[in-house]
Amino acid sequence: MIANHVLNDGHQLPALGFGTYPVRGRDGVESLVSALRTGYRLIDSAVNYENEGTVGEAIRRAGVPREQLVVTSKLPGRHHAYASATTCVYESLYRLGLESIDLYLIHWPNPLTDRYVEAWQALVDLQRAGVLRSIGTSNFLPEHLDRIIAVTGVTPAVNQVELHPYFPQAEQREVHERLGIRTESWGPLGQAGSLLQEPVITGIAGELGRTPAQVVLRWHLQLGSVPLPKASSAARQAENLAVFDFELDEAQVAAITALRRTDGRLGDADPATHEEY
Ligand code: NDP
Repeated sequence: MIANHVLNDGHQLPALGFGTYPVRGRDGVESLVSALRTGYRLIDSAVNYENEGTVGEAIRRAGVPREQLVVTSKLPGRHHAYASATTCVYESLYRLGLESIDLYLIHWPNPLTDRYVEAWQALVDLQRAGVLRSIGTSNFLPEHLDRIIAVTGVTPAVNQVELHPYFPQAEQREVHERLGIRTESWGPLGQAGSLLQEPVITGIAGELGRTPAQVVLRWHLQLGSVPLPKASSAARQAENLAVFDFELDEAQVAAITALRRTDGRLGDADPATHEEY
C-alpha cells in the first residue's frame, strides 16, 4: 500500500508516483494500464510529453476508480501568459477526458521570459473555479517561489524538482519545508545511469536483500520527497512500488546522500537560466 501525504491545501498525494516521459501511443497506454493495475495512483504527465491522451485512455481502460487517482499535468513555457495558460489547462482537460485535473504544475519558471507570475495567477483562479484541485510548480528556485507567493498569497502545494543521490537538493528541500510545500523528485533513479551501480547503493541493496532501485526510492521516501520513477515493464513497475515494507537506517540514508556531486544535475538544466517552451 502506498502511503499518502496531506498537502497544504488539504488534499492527499501518494508518497510515490509514476513518471510518464516518454510514455506515449499504443505501447504507452499498455504500460500505463499496467502501472495503474500494479497499484500506482499518482501519474505524472505534462503538455510537453504529448501524452495526456495516452493517460486519459489508460485511465478509462484500467478500471481504477477515478477518485483514487491523482493525475498531474504541467503548463509549458509557451503558455505562461494569463489567457493562454487558462486555455491550455482546458485543452489538457479535454485531452485527458477528465472533468478536473488533480494537480497542475508550471513546468519551468523561464525567468528570462519572466511571465511565471501571470501563469501562477491563472492556476490560482482555475483552482478557485474548481477546474484544478491542487496547483504547484516544477523547477522553481526559492526566489521564484517567494515571488509568486508574495504576489498572489497562494503557496504551491508541490514543487517538482530534479532530485536523486547525485543531486540531493538539501537547501531547496529546507525551503520547501519552511514554506509547507511538498517536494516531488524527477529523475529519481538518476535516469538509470551510473547511480544504480554505485557501490554504496549496491552494498546496501545486498545487505537488505533489495534491488538498487528500491534502495534509492526508499531514500527519497525517507527524505519526505515523492519519487516519480518511470519504468516500462510490469516487473520493474512492481519492483519500484515495493518500497513500503523496509527502512534504511540513518547511516544508510547519510551514506546515500553523501554521493552528492558539486554539480550533480543529470543535464545542464539550471532553472535560473534554462528556458523551456
Ligand atoms: P528516472 O530516474 O525515473 O529513470 C527512468 C529510467 O530508469 C528508465 O530508463 C527506466 O527504464 C529505468 N528504470 C526504472 N526502474 C528501474 C529499475 N527498477 N531498475 C533499473 N532501471 C530502472 O528518470 P525520468 O527522467 O524518467 O524521471 C521520472 C519522471 O519525472 C519522468 O518520467 C517525468 O514524469 C518526470 N520528469 C519531470 C521533469 C520536469 O522538468 N518536471 C524532467 C524530467 C522528468 P525502463 O523504462 O526501460 O524500465
